[in-house]
Amino acid sequence: MQQLNATQIKKSFINTSRREAEKITPPANLAEVGWAKLEYFGWADTKIPQRAYIIVPVDDVPRGLMLRVVPIAKSQAMCSWCEDLHETIGVRMFTAKKAGSSGRNGNTLGTLIHGNFECSEIVRNPPRAVEGHNDFETHVSMRISKLNERATNFVKRVLGEK
Ligand SMILES: [Zn+2]
Repeated sequence: MQQLNATQIKKSFINTSRREAEKITPPANLAEVGWAKLEYFGWADTKIPQRAYIIVPVDDVPRGLMLRVVPIAKSQAMCSWCEDLHETIGVRMFTAKKAGSSGRNGNTLGTLIHGNFECSEIVRNPPRAVEGHNDFETHVSMRISKLNERATNFVKRVLGEK
């Protein structure tokens, strides 16, 4: 994804009020983020517990989601964004308020995502023996496009477009 600055990030939120978005603190080290190898950018709020944010580029437009971390009983789960079969520890349940009036009426959507938002790194891991006969590059680019698709679909569901 393209590099974002703090202003672009604050402007990208689709499921917050303008005032809420204004109060969001993006991470300080934005210039050091490896944007080119990210399908989405996520971080946990350092001040507000159980609050996290994800920015997904959808048709090259950054779309920001404010998320709430929901404690789950299971210690392992499959991440619904990268669907990695092995990296099942540290997956958290997040809920996003829906965009617009639907969200104001209390509607939310839940999803399971790697709690440290490392899906982009995970999909670039070398394939394991059980994961088919594709060469490394095909395997990774397939996983990247799937991650892209799942992240985009979640944003579209939050927007009520899916
Ligand atoms: Zn993941």
